[in-house]
Amino acid sequence: MNELIDSIGRRIQYLRVSVTDRCNYRCCYCMPEDGITWLPHEKIMSYEEILELCRIFTQLGMKKVRFTGGEPLLRKGMAPFLSRFISTFPLLRVSLTTNGSLLFPLAEPLIASGIHSINVSLDTLSNERFRSMTRNGDVAQVLKGLDAINGKIKSIKLNSVLYKNIDEHDVFSLLEYAREKQYVLRFIEFMPANRQLWNEESYTSVDYIISIIQQHGRWVQYKDNNEVCSGPAAYYLEENTGQKIGVISAVSHNFCHLCNRIRLSSTGQLYPCLFSSISWDLLTPLRKNDYSTVLDRIIQAVKGKPRGKVFFGDAGVAVSRIGG
Ligand code: SAM
Ligand code: SF4
Repeated sequence: MNELIDSIGRRIQYLRVSVTDRCNYRCCYCMPEDGITWLPHEKIMSYEEILELCRIFTQLGMKKVRFTGGEPLLRKGMAPFLSRFISTFPLLRVSLTTNGSLLFPLAEPLIASGIHSINVSLDTLSNERFRSMTRNGDVAQVLKGLDAINGKIKSIKLNSVLYKNIDEHDVFSLLEYAREKQYVLRFIEFMPANRQLWNEESYTSVDYIISIIQQHGRWVQYKDNNEVCSGPAAYYLEENTGQKIGVISAVSHNFCHLCNRIRLSSTGQLYPCLFSSISWDLLTPLRKNDYSTVLDRIIQAVKGKPRGKVFFGDAGVAVSRIGG
């Protein structure tokens, strides 16, 4: 079988696919308050085109696909598409990252789709802070959605970005909530993906979180062997309660050598790194049935994967468009 191996030997087996650039939130670390200009529908990959490209990627050894956005659940027909995708590629590990705002109304079809794992973004449990961070979100709606899928989807993780004025009380509330509901909570460092949104004062290292939680428990680092195509997260286990948490330290620790992923934007551009300044257009040749160019560009993109950190490489393109 063919495999995608980059110039420094990293085996690329994890594809993140953005299904839309649109979002109903305006998270302060991801989008400007007045949003971004949405792309016209004809520029966005159809579900057929996503299936077609993923067929090529699976032939190249891809083992895991994560759907993201923008907000993937805003896209019409997403849950039936997931069912179709999972039955088309029964050997792939299929996941979704969502802001959770539409989990409640879509819980049933999502569970029925057979999706293997869902990551829900939840930066805080405080109503007020949630509304201010997302600029219009309702945390109660996200929690209701989480309750609707709890225990019915095998792996549920919570992603919490460390952004500005971290409040210890908030961190412990999230920890307690995750422990009670048995979700794996992951703290993610605010990343300088976009020059306009970045400011150093809003950044907190995951080391700070580890230092404060160590005051209330015995957290020891461990390797999560259950994670398929595990990425850059480091995991910790609390010895008394058995609670597990993850930390993703994109800024404070260099884990680029472990990176096994590439990203397909909603317009079918292949980005070898979230911070890449260049991308390879797969959609144009696909629409011309020019499969050899598609294949060639995938190979070029993997060869062009940056070796290490290139923050702000792409100041002009929003994370929500590439698929964070
Ligand atoms: N809308 C969905 C969501 O929020 O989960 C999926 C897309 S969002 C771009 C994917 C993830 O990227 C979310 O967990 C979000 O918190 C994270 N993210 C976005 N911008 C970020 C930044 N500058 N630094 C760290 N994480 C970021
Ligand atoms: Fe939307 Fe997700 Fe970006 Fe927040 S992080 S604005 S929910 S795409």
